[in-house]
Amino acid sequence: MDHKVETLISESEIQDRVRSLGRQIEADYHDKPLTILAVLTGSLIMLADLVRRISIPHRIALIQASSYRGATTVATTLVINESFAPDVANRDVLLLDDILDTGQTLTALIRHLADRGARSVRTAVLLRKIGRQEVPIEPDYCGFTIPDVFVVGYGLDFNDDYRHLPYVGVLKEQEVVRDTQLQDS
Ligand code: 5GP
Ligand code: MG
Repeated sequence: MDHKVETLISESEIQDRVRSLGRQIEADYHDKPLTILAVLTGSLIMLADLVRRISIPHRIALIQASSYRGATTVATTLVINESFAPDVANRDVLLLDDILDTGQTLTALIRHLADRGARSVRTAVLLRKIGRQEVPIEPDYCGFTIPDVFVVGYGLDFNDDYRHLPYVGVLKEQEVVRDTQLQDS
């Protein structure tokens, strides 16, 4: 299965970058009640690596956000499931997502957490895709900037597969087309 994926960011590059993001976060939150709130499912692998690089006390929480784009409209509806998210009132929340693409997911979640009484909300992403952003949002912590390609691995999926890869790669196009056709038939 690995042969379909071309490496874009290697395992060691990711590990180095996550380590330095951890150090930055540790310094920025050393005197704050930090909750790292990871957006399911894509950020799970980074979450596990990142929190082991942060030695200050902090809580770990999970939230699910799925976006649906209607067939006849460009408006995106975000459905938030917070059954695994503890109370964030008066906490300094660091939202962690796998990738900032259009920016809709993180923008909606920031608003949601502010409504829930979070003391502050910042964002961390493994990847930021250039050229697709629809809403103005600057991630506070960003691993890597990538071109407008569909990536998988290190948490990111295609049809719920490839999340386990320890690196980030690009799916070869003919394979994506073939898989999509198989799925449609
Ligand atoms: P947005 O920023 O558009 O609201 O959404 C970001 C979400 O879209 C991510 O959490 C991820 O689930 C999905 N996404 C965007 N680009 C990619 C990509 O290149 N690969 C994968 N696997 N998911 C992506
Ligand atoms: Mg996601």
